[in-house]
Amino acid sequence: MRMPDGSLTIGFIGLGNMGAPMTARLIQAGHRVHAYDVSETARAHAVDLGAVEAATLSEAVTDADVVILMLPNSDIVDAVAGDDAFSRSLKAGALVIDMSSSEPLRTKALADVLARAGIRFIDAPVSGGVTGAVRGTLTIMLGCPPELLERVTPLLELLGRPVRVGDVGAGHAIKALNNLLSATHLWITSEAMVVGQKFGIDPEVMLSVFNSSSGRSGSTENKWPNFILTQTYASGFGLRLMLKDMKIAANLADELGVPSQLGEDAIRHWSAASESLEPTADHTEVARWIQQRAHDSTPE
Ligand code: NAD
Repeated sequence: MRMPDGSLTIGFIGLGNMGAPMTARLIQAGHRVHAYDVSETARAHAVDLGAVEAATLSEAVTDADVVILMLPNSDIVDAVAGDDAFSRSLKAGALVIDMSSSEPLRTKALADVLARAGIRFIDAPVSGGVTGAVRGTLTIMLGCPPELLERVTPLLELLGRPVRVGDVGAGHAIKALNNLLSATHLWITSEAMVVGQKFGIDPEVMLSVFNSSSGRSGSTENKWPNFILTQTYASGFGLRLMLKDMKIAANLADELGVPSQLGEDAIRHWSAASESLEPTADHTEVARWIQQRAHDSTPE
């Protein structure tokens, strides 16, 4: 319940790599977080961060002014928010914000279903990774009617920089398109890095030149120097989640009748890497896979 000091009760569902640090920021700002995850370990971690553990989904949302979802995909978002117990437990006037990277057309459909039950549902997916979640510097792509902006902005500003990109579903559309770009950049950057290194150029020198030239991207500025050259491959964003987002973007292009050949090619390449890497592989491991593939194909 909203307190006289303006603090809120927030139901937070999905306490993984992103959800946990986001929860921590909301708690640090003075809000009460009722945290739920199917994983007991994730719930226990949230309690360590200062959250109130919810043993069930209903328990997490019953008193909530706002419910935030930070779940792997639309199938799970639909299962959670489409659950009768979820809509029945919500109090009148509660707002549900899906911050997961979900499918825009399914988001619109879900918002319509929930609207019939009197529940407002908006999307606010993020970019900026685990570091952005920890520091509160996420880019937040907000799909919502203009009249809700004033209500959600102060809350979302605790997590990053909210930008209203359109009505419900628009946030999820732009998020998927962003990750299709990001994944395609990472792939071609990794190929270029392998070629340059085989030619004998120092990888650090290559990155510094790319970063002051037109080839720069998040891959040259962040992923290669921080997670690939260091060989930690620990960005906190799973390869399978990246591939999911790429497919969402390609499906959207298809639904809208827009050809996306390069996008389809990128998905084919990422799928091949995904099939030969561990299910839990970080998405930056594609660079290692590309390097290994180049090594294996070098004639003796
Ligand atoms: P994650 O796999 O680390 O966390 C997801 C959490 O959801 C897990 O703790 C899991 O147990 C929980 N969960 C699954 N099914 C559930 C259910 N039915 N009810 C309650 N909890 C359930 O994933 P993440 O990296 O935190 O990503 C979450 C979302 O954010 C995804 O949609 C992802 O694409 C997006 N995203 C991730 C990053 C990143 O860098 N990790 C960046 C931007 C966006």
